[in-house]
Amino acid sequence: MADVKRFTTLKARLYPNEAQAELSRKLNCGNAAKDGYGAFRECLRYKLERQGKALIVVDCYAPTSRTCSVCGMVLDSAVGWKQRLWTCPKCGAAYDREINAAKNIKAEGLAQYQRMQKRKAV
Ligand SMILES: [Zn+2]
Repeated sequence: MADVKRFTTLKARLYPNEAQAELSRKLNCGNAAKDGYGAFRECLRYKLERQGKALIVVDCYAPTSRTCSVCGMVLDSAVGWKQRLWTCPKCGAAYDREINAAKNIKAEGLAQYQRMQKRKAV
């Protein structure tokens, strides 16, 4: 499940329509490009639920590319698309913009998963 999420997230950020259409075809979820992302996501959620798994969605507006994945500092302004590399002013960690964002997305997904497991245990 985490692999599907990582794949859809990373591919969707790079090639939104292509990634959705490709995964939609593989999962037999219709045409995501035509039906829209909401229908695609609902189909994916349903198919995972049938397998006893859950779809974890990270807010697309979360500041993943401008949050330091080491110390958690959030830059005031977005890191521009042309600026591939940046250095955290607080801890000095140097980043590739997309790799840093991927680490933050993974951390948020795992945090959501752990919260989900704690709710199930109660
Ligand atoms: Zn930092």
